[in-house]
Amino acid sequence: MKLCGLFLLAAWLPAQTLDTCRQSYRRGNLEDATRCYQALSSSRDPYLRAEASWALDRYQDANEAFKEALKAQPKNPDYRVRMGRLYLYHEQKQDAVDLFGEALELKEDHAGALTGLALAASGGFDSAAVKIAEKALAADPKLVEPRVLLASIALEDNNPQKAAEEADKALRVDPQSLEALSIKATIDLLDDKPDTPYLASILKLDPAYGEAYQTAGRFFVLNRRYEEGIALYRKALELNPRLYEARAELGLNLMRLGHDEEAKQHLEACYKAGNTYPSVGNPLRLMDSYKNFRYIKRGNIVLKLHEKEADLLEPYVEAELQRAVATYEKKYKFRLDRPVQLEVYPDHEDFAVRILGMPGMPALGVTFVNVVAMDSPTSRKPGEYNWASTLWHELSHVYTLAATRQRMPRWFTEGVAVYEETAASPEWGDRLSPHVILAIRDKKLLPVAELDRGFVHPSYPDQVVVSYYQAGRVCTFIERKWGFGKLLEMTHAFGELKTTDVVIREQLGLAPEAFDKQFLAWVEAETKVTVEGFESWKKGMQRIAELVKKEQYDDVIREAPAIRDLYADYVEDGNLYVVLADAWLAKGDKKSAAAELERYARAGGKNPDSLKLLARLFEEQGRPKDAIQALSRINYIYPRDEELHRRLGDLLLTAGDAQGAVREFRALVAMKPLDQAASYFNLARAYRSAGQREAAMEQVLLSLEAAPSYRPAQKLLLDLSQ
Ligand SMILES: [Zn+2]
Repeated sequence: MKLCGLFLLAAWLPAQTLDTCRQSYRRGNLEDATRCYQALSSSRDPYLRAEASWALDRYQDANEAFKEALKAQPKNPDYRVRMGRLYLYHEQKQDAVDLFGEALELKEDHAGALTGLALAASGGFDSAAVKIAEKALAADPKLVEPRVLLASIALEDNNPQKAAEEADKALRVDPQSLEALSIKATIDLLDDKPDTPYLASILKLDPAYGEAYQTAGRFFVLNRRYEEGIALYRKALELNPRLYEARAELGLNLMRLGHDEEAKQHLEACYKAGNTYPSVGNPLRLMDSYKNFRYIKRGNIVLKLHEKEADLLEPYVEAELQRAVATYEKKYKFRLDRPVQLEVYPDHEDFAVRILGMPGMPALGVTFVNVVAMDSPTSRKPGEYNWASTLWHELSHVYTLAATRQRMPRWFTEGVAVYEETAASPEWGDRLSPHVILAIRDKKLLPVAELDRGFVHPSYPDQVVVSYYQAGRVCTFIERKWGFGKLLEMTHAFGELKTTDVVIREQLGLAPEAFDKQFLAWVEAETKVTVEGFESWKKGMQRIAELVKKEQYDDVIREAPAIRDLYADYVEDGNLYVVLADAWLAKGDKKSAAAELERYARAGGKNPDSLKLLARLFEEQGRPKDAIQALSRINYIYPRDEELHRRLGDLLLTAGDAQGAVREFRALVAMKPLDQAASYFNLARAYRSAGQREAAMEQVLLSLEAAPSYRPAQKLLLDLSQ
């Protein structure tokens, strides 16, 4: 990539020699090219030294030489552009963007600077890249690079037709454009045509052009076809071992699939060669931190939990994962050919490195073939995150992607995953958010055949969130109208690499446009009350806030329900369920308060304090079963809570669920609470109740070790000894 960038600027290269090096490289004579660049690297011209050093992977030298060149010719925009490209390669995006901006100040519409800006934008999946690339082409229609970028962006959007058109335009300008040919080859490879003629053409022009496979590898990874992507990166390196970008990508993707040893070897090789940028350094640091994780193997599942919370989380996470595996095996009529690995990260930064560089980052969980990585419940504020919902979402990806050998458009696998969250529990899954309400109101939902675009290149803030919602509703709509079996049939049709257009026509017997019409009518009817009532709801919320401030609870109780029902999905801060419950409590009506909080929980409310209050009200009303249910919800949201486990353990023990009580008191012990004697004692009680005398004995002794004079434990010890 970095070397081929030189070709495009050949027109203004000042000396023959750079051209000579370039030709050797392009003909695949890597040794000649290296010798040529080495000779050039001691040139008196700092610009030539900069280019040669860069080509030889000597980034520091290249950087210094560029600075010197800029000092000698401060008004030369071309030097700034090339230096910007060096920074872009080295993941110093802001510095690169600044240099391109300076070049544009020196020369308006500098095509190279615009190209650089477009590349910088596209690196972050910014939809602005298209406009900037078009501007670069307007400035110089003969440029190939921005044209190839447009092709690449279209392919990222899963639009191979448009990608091919753009690549063809580039080839009309330069029939030997290796980058454009690489896009054409990638389109074929993605379509399961390994004998693509474009690869042959590329290798005829440059037998060492590993970049062709590197380009393809990137797109396979984007399409979640990680294993094939890895194989392509290996081919790239066979042709040219010095393609460090490809090597870094190979390392990252090996890490994603849990092949840590080999991942390390590749990333360390990159690092040693001076490629010290974040996407090389961060994964290495992350893998270093793996020593702090505990691997737990149980049959066909592997848990990877951080030592500091493994004892607490293991029982909950394992039970939920087993339950989801059993459910999906039945539902998808499919058994995985390998174990599922679930990794839980308490530090969100680690998780971010684990998933590095993915578009439309869901930010809570991610799936790499059979490996699921997700945020730990403890990494977020209590009430923000339902980890179990995310687990079911990600595991659904494992199944749908395995069933299709990873051949599935993004929108459909996401749509099914979102659908599965609420199928697992109607209380789970994302609720209708204000962004989605506005998108529906302003008719911003995408046609189903273009839905992938909303995930990869959002054109307005929060379009990713809106696209998740829409994909989920599309799948729900299909399930309601044609049954779940239809979703399965569509899954298999996508597995045959049929496009969305074809699958909708064949499976649903509708043109995509007709489907869109039916779907929109359905979704608009479903959300009508909220979308049309949204402005009134906002005003109503203000009015209720004023009433609460003035403590006019009768008015709150009279007016709030109608406003609450305008936007029943709103369960975030200031929601009217909790406001109403508080008002009822102020009036001394605990029964109505409980009813309101139960409504809140059923609507998807996740605030642990509100759920605990609900449990207490149920207890006071002699409804222990409901209290247990209320508290059990919190285990899916924020299990790092001593009070939760203590209360739930007590309730379960009283209700005769000894195993449940053991689970809760074990969680309490795992949290190492201050009152150790009491928590061991409680666990002992639960074990005794479950008929596990020895385990009970062990806990009693631990209790007495913590507090030898603790009377309840002494008494229990006596009981157990008899
Ligand atoms: Zn997902």
